This record gives sequence, structure tokens and C-alpha cells, in this order.
Amino acid sequence: MAISNLTFKCQQKKTVPVLSRPCRAMQTNRQERAPLPRNMIENSMFEEEPDVVDLAKESPSYPIDSDDVVYEPRSSRLLVRGLGENDMDEEEEDYESSARLLGMSFMNRSSNQRSASSSYTRQQPSGSCSMPSAKKTVAGILVLIIVASIAMVIYFLPRCTFSKDGCHKANSSMERIYPVASNGELFPWTDLRLPNSVRPVQYELWLFPNLTTMTFQGNVNITMVVMQGTKKIVLHSSDMKILKATFQGKEVKILEYKPWQQIAIKFSEELKKGQQYVLNILYTASLSNSYDGFYNSSYIDTTGKRRVLAATQFEPLAARKAFPCFDEPAFKASFLIKIKREAEYISLSNMHKTKTTNLPDGFFEDEFEKSMNMSTYLVAFIVANFSCLSANVSNTLVSVYAVPDKKDQVHYALKTATELLQFYNTFFEIKYPLSKLDLVGIPDFLAGAMENWGLITFRETTLLVGNHSSPIDKQLVTSVIAHELAHQWFGNLVTMRWWNDLWLNEGFATYMQYMSIETKYPELDIDNEFLNVRFRAMAKDSLNSSHPVSSKVTTPEQVEEMFDSVSYEKGASILLMLNATLSEKAFQKGVIEYLRNYRGGNTENEDLWSSLSQVAGRSINVSQMMNTWTVQKGFPLVTVNKIGKQVKLTQEHFLLNADNATNHSNLWHIPLTYVNDTCSNSSSCKQVFLFKDKVATLEVSDSVKWLKFNYKNEGFYIVDYGENGWKDLINALNANVSVLSHEDRASLINNIFALSRLGKVSFRQVLNLFAYLHNETETAPLTEALTQLNHILRLLEKRSDLLLVSRMAVYITEHFGDLMDSQSWGEETSVSKQALRSALLETACSLNRPNCTEQAKSLFDQWIASNKTKVIPGDLLRAVLSVAAQSEDGWTELLDTYKHSIYDSEKRKTLEALASTQNVRKIVWILKAALEGSEIQTPELPLVISTVCRHFAGHLYAWDFVKENWDKLTQKFPIGSFPLQSIIMSTTSQFSTKMHLEEVEQFFGSLKDRGSQMRSIQEATETIKLNMRWMDRNLATLRTWL
Ligand SMILES: [Zn+2]
Repeated sequence: MAISNLTFKCQQKKTVPVLSRPCRAMQTNRQERAPLPRNMIENSMFEEEPDVVDLAKESPSYPIDSDDVVYEPRSSRLLVRGLGENDMDEEEEDYESSARLLGMSFMNRSSNQRSASSSYTRQQPSGSCSMPSAKKTVAGILVLIIVASIAMVIYFLPRCTFSKDGCHKANSSMERIYPVASNGELFPWTDLRLPNSVRPVQYELWLFPNLTTMTFQGNVNITMVVMQGTKKIVLHSSDMKILKATFQGKEVKILEYKPWQQIAIKFSEELKKGQQYVLNILYTASLSNSYDGFYNSSYIDTTGKRRVLAATQFEPLAARKAFPCFDEPAFKASFLIKIKREAEYISLSNMHKTKTTNLPDGFFEDEFEKSMNMSTYLVAFIVANFSCLSANVSNTLVSVYAVPDKKDQVHYALKTATELLQFYNTFFEIKYPLSKLDLVGIPDFLAGAMENWGLITFRETTLLVGNHSSPIDKQLVTSVIAHELAHQWFGNLVTMRWWNDLWLNEGFATYMQYMSIETKYPELDIDNEFLNVRFRAMAKDSLNSSHPVSSKVTTPEQVEEMFDSVSYEKGASILLMLNATLSEKAFQKGVIEYLRNYRGGNTENEDLWSSLSQVAGRSINVSQMMNTWTVQKGFPLVTVNKIGKQVKLTQEHFLLNADNATNHSNLWHIPLTYVNDTCSNSSSCKQVFLFKDKVATLEVSDSVKWLKFNYKNEGFYIVDYGENGWKDLINALNANVSVLSHEDRASLINNIFALSRLGKVSFRQVLNLFAYLHNETETAPLTEALTQLNHILRLLEKRSDLLLVSRMAVYITEHFGDLMDSQSWGEETSVSKQALRSALLETACSLNRPNCTEQAKSLFDQWIASNKTKVIPGDLLRAVLSVAAQSEDGWTELLDTYKHSIYDSEKRKTLEALASTQNVRKIVWILKAALEGSEIQTPELPLVISTVCRHFAGHLYAWDFVKENWDKLTQKFPIGSFPLQSIIMSTTSQFSTKMHLEEVEQFFGSLKDRGSQMRSIQEATETIKLNMRWMDRNLATLRTWL
């Protein structure tokens, strides 16, 4: 549908004057972040052991209910989750009997007794005991204790090493003991995952945020159904003060175990299977100061006034900070939300607003339609002063919201969202199920965007398009909208059961984002971007610190860590490979089948494969093939050896740091594709061979001169052609560049660099391939070559090897200088040409190539002279402003632009320019300002740090800054989260000396539970070691050949 056919209407802003703004005294909890889960061993060591004797004096009247007996460690519990309820019962019985054998039954029983006794205190060990037959009973129990204690000592002694720290083995068994709730009683649950005995059916949630005191009141009614008879309910809650809880109308006591963000209610009578119950909780909390939960956000408007708003970001684990809930994706329920607000704001939630009530106290209460069944992480609400633009498409009202100053920048997003909604409605053959879809640009938002059902939230830079936006900026906005819209089906309608399969959400949405744009907006040249994504994913996945696409996760940090390149980019890459193998039609059919089969439900890896198997035909076992890509980490290196007609193939794990390899025997089912010199440049030339074994042999015709494998790099593997194979390909390219597609050329450049990193080819061979670049004109191969050379240049720069740095700079300008000089500085419409131009000119200007810096200065001067009204093409903005930022006046001017620009893409590029300064005092200032968040928004800190680190002047300051401010950083960005992953990698990944390696190891090692377990730290040290090895191997070659 064209934009002219759309009907525009807009939600009315309430103009009723504010009568009064009562400032209610509320109990607030100003804690910024949830406490980290404490190790169970710590608990048992410090709080459990001394209680054993005391407990025996308590009345043994409190029975253990069936699902109380959970002794297994957390890891085994996770496995049990996959089973049905009945299976779990058996498992639990097994654990109980084995625990009894271990002498643990007594201890747990005792612990439970203690929890039932409210009079228990350590200071009064027996004062409350009033049993008439005391003496005999106590004596009997004491005997039992002694027997049990001896049994335990005998059990543990042979395997226990006593040391200064005590008996480690004994402590590990103590893990199974119930933790202590915040009121001192025992908490009745021992697992990070919730029990399955009770499921929520519906939440009725009432909220009243106060944007003056930055607190909110909440009231939630949770209707739940009992799946299995139980005497407890366990759910999530974090950072809130519970004022009152009632169950079926009767007041109940809430136990809280803060480290795991869980609360529980214990009952004396069993809740019956199949029955529904209602739990009501009244609470207050502070609006969060971090970027998750129900958080406060602010911005300065064009009049200089600070405006506030409240918004939510729940994925993955923060719904529990806004309301008590069963905060796991498989606990889907419906939501009825009401929000009380002041007159000057509007409120938004997932569903349509059904009515607004004018309350006697001058406030308003908005009530929203009942939602579909959905996971808690998809719930969202916003209270703010926003403007919007709407359009109706296929009975869905699509609206784009932004702060009033930016209301003119929503048109592009609205057009794109309506078009893509129609595209997906048709592609998936399931209509978007809600009657409205809001897209909201939030100032001060950490993620790129969030797919909350019906209320998608964005960073302003990924939603708003102003006059200054270039086609590349539009490409970004389109990509993010396409990604979030795809989630309305992949993620919202069908959801992964648990975060281990996050890729089912993210890999799919990422794949769909590229696929839909390629089909719907071919002019955006998205295929080059997707190719870069595959290269990036392979670079990450070639490290030993990588992980399988579908990985076991338990702790909140591990859940956060799943939001990484593997889930998103590798996930999307292997779906592209499967699509190319099955054919587009069959793949689409399988996807539709999957959505139909699991609509409204939760899924695992295998469910997707079974749907796709139904369309795949007999030739391919989809499940078998794809499991080799999802349940083991890494990807294969295929080595090709062509002798006459025979082509011998071998596969092995492409692991850069093979010394620490955990498993050398991995095999993949590779849908190997290839073309040859007689037919190489069209998909009809592509031949496919399913390569499952370690070794295989292909036969080709005698006349075949060369082969290129992995057609267009659609497969997730790297190919080594051997010395002769590479020579043949290089000769072919030297004779005629277009003998291969531009994707294939980029793929050769990427692969040969990767092989040189692995040590399989010499750097001399890499340079041999580069000889052909004189004839190259396409964006993908040129930008890939430039990226790789820039990477080496930056490593050399950080080693202060000035001679080699200047030689490398000369090498780059020798190969790219003509192209750099021939770029235009005017408007350019082709996205692909823009991408090439900006890559070339940013490099040229950073190398101080006079042609570039003079042009940049001249454009900047004209821009200033026109009072910043003359438009600098968006793709050149970063290059131009970065040159300007090197002078005192330019920097000051840019800081002013950053503070006052209402165009977010311009603002971001201005910030990058500011951070590219070589002036150390300015570097120190900008790092601090972004951390504090006053003059530079904190969500931009990862970008500031990575920009500073790219340049020699600031990279060591940035590293020191991260070390000094680690605790502040982890308050802003959760441990394991993507921003923190990015900060770690950008500050350390350019080190290549032993001294830096030791420094990095020493610092992160000293963090202990403040983040030392993060996977990105392993990635960092592994990367430094690889850099060191590469330098050892190649410095001599570089000195000879550059
Ligand atoms: Zn996503």
C-alpha cells in the first residue's frame, strides 16, 4: 500500500490542567541494581551448619510436601525441566532417596522444620520449646543426630581433603540446602528456575508511576492454576517493597530470597491440582535508574527544559522489577493493565486503550484491552509526553511515537512499518494478531530496540529519520524495524521455551530482517551488510571462547551473555545456509508450518527442525544436519586438494587457538556448494554436495581449471584451496575480475585472512591475492580488504611500531589511493557506493591523506558558514567531522552540535567525531561525561570507548578508565550484557604483547564475582594471545614485503 492511501489519526493528548500533584510518602527502595545471586556454598557455610543441632529441638510437626524435596544441584535441575510433570516427580523421588543415602534427608527435614517455626532465633535455642515429654524426646533426637552426624562424617571422609578452608567436598553437598529468606526463615525453593507446579493464567496489573518522586505503586492480581498438588508458590520479584499480600482474599506472609530475585508463599494445606487461585500483591518501588525494569528516562527539549518519562525494558529478566511475576518465557499468561497517570502525560501499553477514567483526585486512569497469552518479558508500558502519527493497514492501527520536538521525523518509520507489516502478514500466512502496533522512540534507551508485543520500543537513532539522514541511515532504521516486526511472529507468537534457545528468536528475526529487506527494498543493498554479518559471526565463532548456538544457561549473567553475535549473527547465517539448501519456497513453507504448529506456545530447537523436515523431502535430514550447527560450537574448515579429476575434501574444526581445543573430533553436515571456471557467476552454476564425513572425494570433469567453494559465502564455513588452488584462483581473478560474483571475491579475501590467522597460509599469499585489487571496483570485496588491512594497521599502531605503521599506510594508499581520490563528495544515491565511499574516505582522512583532509575541512567550513544548514551527505559526515574534531575550534563547535542537534543520526556521528580526538584531556573528559550521563548519554558509552580505542592516543586511557570504573560500569550495564561485552572487547582486542596480556588477565582475574566469569573475558585473553602469535609469525614477512 502506498503512503497516500493511509489514513492518519493521532491519539489526543490530554490538555486538562494539573489540579494537584500530591507527593505521597512512599517506602522507596533506591537500590539501583539487583544484588548478584550469592553462591549457595556461601550460604550453607555461614548460615546453615550451626543450625543443625538447634533444629533438632524443634517440633517435628511440619511435613514435607512432595515438591519440597529438591536436593539436586542446579545443573541437574535444568535437565529435569525438559521433562513432563510426571517425569519430574520420578526424578525428584530419585533425588530424595539418593539424598537420604547421603544423609541429607535429615538436614533438609530439619531445615524445613525451622522455617515453619517463627519463634526460632539463634540466641534462644530452646526457649520456645514447650513439649511435655521433652527429656526423652530430646535425648532420642540427640542420639539420632549423633548417628546421622557419624554417618555423614563416614560418608564424606574418604573423599574429603581438609585444608585451611575446610572440607570442600562437604561444602559442595551443602549446596542442596534451602537458602535463608530475608526474614531469617528458610526459603522453600533451591533453584534459579521456578517450579512447574503452579502456572499463571492471568495478571491484572495496576500501576501508578510518580514522575516527580520517581517511584511507583503497583497492585497485581495473579490468577494461577495448580498443575501438580503443592504447598508453596514461588515466583519472581526484585527491588520492590511488598506492602501486603493476600491469597484467595486472606493475608499471607511473603518470603523473599533476594539473591535469586524470588519470593514464595508456603501453605499448610496442599493446593489441589486443577484448581485456580488468586494471589494479590500490593507494592511500591523506585523507577529504576539503570536501563531495565520500569525505568525513568529523561531528555532536554529544544527549550532547554529537562523532560522526564517512564518506560520499560524487561527482556531478559527485568519484568520482575516492575511487578511480581513468573518471569520465565514459558509461563505465558494474559495481561489486563491499568495505569494511573498525571494529566500532562499519555500512557501506552501492549494493547489498545479501552477507556480513560477521570479520577476524583485529578489523575487519570487508562485501562487497556486484555492481551493474548504472552511471556512476561514482552509486557511493556510507557508514561510520557509523546506525539504520534498513525496509519491503518489490514485492520491494524500502526503508530509511530516520538518526543514532540521530533514529531516530524516519524514519517519514514511509519511508511516502512506499514509496508513490512503487510509483507510479513503475507509471507507467514498468519495475520499480525493485535489490532494495533506502536513504534516508540525513547530518549535514553540502551538496546537497539525491543519487540514488546504491540509496543515496540526503539532508540531514537534506529527509528527516526530526519532531513539529514542518508540512505545508509535509512538502511539502519529499516533493518531494525524489519527485525522487530519479525519478532511479532518469531518470539512473540512462538517463543523459545528457555533462554538457551534464544537464537530461535534472535537468529530468526535477524535472518528475516535481511530477507525481507532484500525482497522489499532491493535499493537498500542489504546483501552486503548481511555478508559482513556472516564474516563477523565467523570471526567470533572461530575462538575457543565461543559457544554453541543453543547453549545451556542458568545464571542471570549467562542469560545476558546469550545476547551476542552467536545467537543473532550465526543464528541468521545458518538459517541462510538452510534456506539455500532447501530452496526458498520449501523454507518458507516449513517456517509457516512451524508458526502454525506452535502458535501461542513455546518451542525448542527440535520443534523447528521437525517442521522444516516435513518440507525438506527425503534427501536431507534437516534435524541431523542442523544439530551439527547448533549443538556444537564453531564451524568447519574445508580443505580442498584437486589433482586432475579428483577433488579430495577434508573437514576439521576451524579453531584459531587450537592449543586449548576442547574437542578435535567435531564433524558438520556441510551442504557444500561450488562453481568452476566453465560456469561460475550465476546460481544455476552452483552444485551441491552434502559433506558429512571427515574426508570425501568429488569427481569433476577433466577440463575444470579451478573451483570456488561456498558459493556467495552462503554457507558457514571457510575453505582452503591449497597452494595450487589459491594460485589458480588468483590467476583467474587477475585475468578477469568478474569471473566470480562480488560476494565470492569478498569471500576469498575474508577466507585467506582467516587462514593466515590460523597459520595455514603465509601472509605473502595474502598479499599475492591483493594484487588483483587494482581491478576491483565492488563494495563488498574492497571494504572487506580495507577492514582486514585496517585491523593490522591498528595492531601495529598499538605496538608503537612506527616504521611498520607508516609502511602499512603506504601499502594501503598504494592499493586504494586512486579509488580514494576518485570518490565524489557530493550527494550519492546508491547505498552500496555510499558504503564504499565512507569506508575509503574515513581511512584516507585518518591516514591524513591531504586530498581527503582538505576536502573535509572545506565541507566543514561551508557547513559552519551556513549556520549548519548546508547538508553534508550523511555517509560523509563521520569522515568530515572527525577531521574537524582534531582542531580546538572544531571540537568546541562539535560539542555544541552534539548538545543541540535534534537529529539523532547526526548526533551520533558528531559524538564519534568528538571521541576521535587525539587530545588526551578531551579524551578523559568525554569518557567521564559518558559514564556520568549528564552531557553525553550513558547508552553511548560503549560507542565512545570503541571510538577512543581505535586511535593510538586514547586506547591506553580507555583501558585504565575501564579498570578504574569497573564497578560503576557494572551498575550501568548488567554483567554479561552486550554493552559490557563490547566495552571489554574494544579496550583489549588490540593488545598484542605479553605485558598487556598479563595485565588483562590480572585485572579480570581480580574481579572474582564482579564479572570474572564472563565469556567475553576469555574471548579477550584468547584474542590477545592470537594477536601475539600472529605478530610472531608475520612481523618478519611484513618487514620484508611492505
Ligand atoms: Zn531481536
